Amino acid sequence: MKKEEFRAYAHQVVNWMADYMEQKENYSVTPNVTPKAIFNQIPSSAPEKPEPFEAIFKDFQEIIVPGMTHWQHPSFFGYFPANNSEPSVLAEMLMATLGAQCMSWITSPAATELEERVCDWLRDAKGIDSSWKGVVHDTASTATLSAILTAREKATQFQINEKGFTGNEQFKVYSSSHVHSSIDKALKIAGIGVKNLVRIPVDKNFAMIPEELDSAINKDLEAGFRPLCVVSALGTTSSTAVDPIFEITQITRKHGIWHHIDAAFAGTALLLPEFQHLIKGHEFADSYVFNPHKWMFTNFDCTILYVREPKFLVNTFSMTPEYLKTKLDDEVNNYRDWGIQLGRRFRALKLWFVIRSYGLEGIREKLRKHLQLAQLAKSWIESEQYLELLAPVNFNTICFRYADSGSTSEKLNSLNESWMNSVNATGKAFFTHTKLDGKFVIRWVIGQTDVEEKHIRNAWSLLLEKLEDTLQQAKN
Ligand SMILES: *Cc1c(COP(=O)(O)O)cnc(C)c1O
Repeated sequence: MKKEEFRAYAHQVVNWMADYMEQKENYSVTPNVTPKAIFNQIPSSAPEKPEPFEAIFKDFQEIIVPGMTHWQHPSFFGYFPANNSEPSVLAEMLMATLGAQCMSWITSPAATELEERVCDWLRDAKGIDSSWKGVVHDTASTATLSAILTAREKATQFQINEKGFTGNEQFKVYSSSHVHSSIDKALKIAGIGVKNLVRIPVDKNFAMIPEELDSAINKDLEAGFRPLCVVSALGTTSSTAVDPIFEITQITRKHGIWHHIDAAFAGTALLLPEFQHLIKGHEFADSYVFNPHKWMFTNFDCTILYVREPKFLVNTFSMTPEYLKTKLDDEVNNYRDWGIQLGRRFRALKLWFVIRSYGLEGIREKLRKHLQLAQLAKSWIESEQYLELLAPVNFNTICFRYADSGSTSEKLNSLNESWMNSVNATGKAFFTHTKLDGKFVIRWVIGQTDVEEKHIRNAWSLLLEKLEDTLQQAKN
């Protein structure tokens, strides 16, 4: 592509982007495609000859876009959102243009120093202890793996990094029974083994029972195991349950073990002072992760890992071969030493654009609106005799289902599943499910950047309409 062509095509692309952002709610939230439908439209071998941008862009619009799930659609209520915003997208374009690889301070001083600042900004705005330091990672999975590896190395005086496992480690890691699968995965990768993840029972609100944690640790100690780390959840993925951070930290302190707080989704709520009590006592925990790429208007990917003592993280990951050494290494942060990857994207730029564009006030306003909309939707569900809420609405995630007293639990599960599928099949809204105590539950997460009351109202009408159809069909 010639330099002068780039300008014209870039304008064309930006126009498409602006149209998309204005009209995203006119798309079907999920695509109507069968497996391989897209694959088969793409030639089986790469083109030998250059193709004009017009052809590529046309195929993008005609083949790719119809095969996309529209994650930014205001009626996308599934999983957790991965919401974006105009300033974040603009920053992403600039990042791609600079094309910087931000592994070390010297490879882009501005990238490192901006990352330090925006991590501090969010730390302070969230009420995290001002001595903690942050680093931007791609995902919570990576950040949690980094924390667990660091816990492992701290506990063994960095000996596993050096010599490998002796075979006598006998580590145990604890979480609630509602733990996210990224913790299981981290234990696989860290060589600890998923069998050594101890799932602590939860209370009726699906939060970890601290007494159960303490007794599990004591039992393991007596049996000769080595408790390494507790991963608590501030907002579980199923129902956004909040583990008691304060009580858990008392226990981890007493036993001298690492406490990692997984606040991947709900951590954004700490920007609201009324939620900051949830991390009371965290000063004596060890690490905390949250995803601005879920609910903070910063397009995927962007995660921040905060640690109380960065030296443990750095000692776990630093590798400074001769060709990476610089004169300034004692004076600056080389973020390559704060995690797994060497090469790093300039994600702090997105955070800077988002935070400055909205201001913390603007972000808080949006969060409060989402929380209010969730309360509204919750009140509608409560007002229906045959609908029930299965978990407290701690933030903006509602877990609900249809339940009549005449049906078996199996029948209810299949009814609710059909109900959700029939709603999703319309393409007008999108929900996903979880299971709570064996019950199929629809999750309604209200956290899209542009979600308005009308989207919630339309989704509610659609839910009621499809429930009637589903019950009718079940009768026939
Ligand atoms: C989403 C989520 C994760 C994983 O996040 P990624 O950034 O996709 O790795 C981990 N823990 C919890 C509680 C989550 O909700």
